[in-house]
Amino acid sequence: MRYELMLPHQIRAAIAANTPIVLPLGVLEYHGEHLGLGLDTLVVVKLLEELETDHDLILLPPFYYGAASYAVAGPEGGSIQIDGDQLYPFARALFTSLLKTGFRNVHFVVHHQTENFGAGMPTDLAFKFGARQAIFAFLEETHGEGWWGKPEMADYYARHATGGDPFNWIKGHPLMTPGIIAQYPFDHAGLGETSLLLALCPEAVDMSRLAEGPWYTETAKDASAALG
Ligand SMILES: [Zn+2]
Repeated sequence: MRYELMLPHQIRAAIAANTPIVLPLGVLEYHGEHLGLGLDTLVVVKLLEELETDHDLILLPPFYYGAASYAVAGPEGGSIQIDGDQLYPFARALFTSLLKTGFRNVHFVVHHQTENFGAGMPTDLAFKFGARQAIFAFLEETHGEGWWGKPEMADYYARHATGGDPFNWIKGHPLMTPGIIAQYPFDHAGLGETSLLLALCPEAVDMSRLAEGPWYTETAKDASAALG
């Protein structure tokens, strides 16, 4: 289901069923001369769309305006950079709104810079921080100060062990886990990412432009949709 196409009775039913609601999160960033700027977001969107065909989940409209940074190329390359401290208020407001609507099974999936997902990078950190702050504020608003110390919270650690505590209401995920990264070439605009985009969104690839690109695109010459 796509959130923007849903009717209110479908939203109510999805909340009652605790259906996962997922935000595809990414950036617009220079990926050499042969790849579309939206790669990091497109691969998340396309895979979630595929997952949605045989799983019960709600897709939120994707968010493309993360912190791309100008690390790989300056703004003339087309990258759009929004600082993490500007993303955080947006993330907090979005998650607060979803909690108020009644969702308790909220996720975001991100690919950009996720080789450092454990420690965090500006885009995912801003959304993780926004999620945490939204949950704390929501609990205090709905249950009052001292909510954690109340008798009904006595099973907190038991619920934590089974993933049922409030801090699991919103979770962030890298598109590629460390286990996947160990088996697949994780790179920037090289063999790995070019193959991914060839598999998932070939209309955003033009291999005839590859030779004009920078050093980190050289391995892309061996890319294939099959690998992706
Ligand atoms: Zn990328």
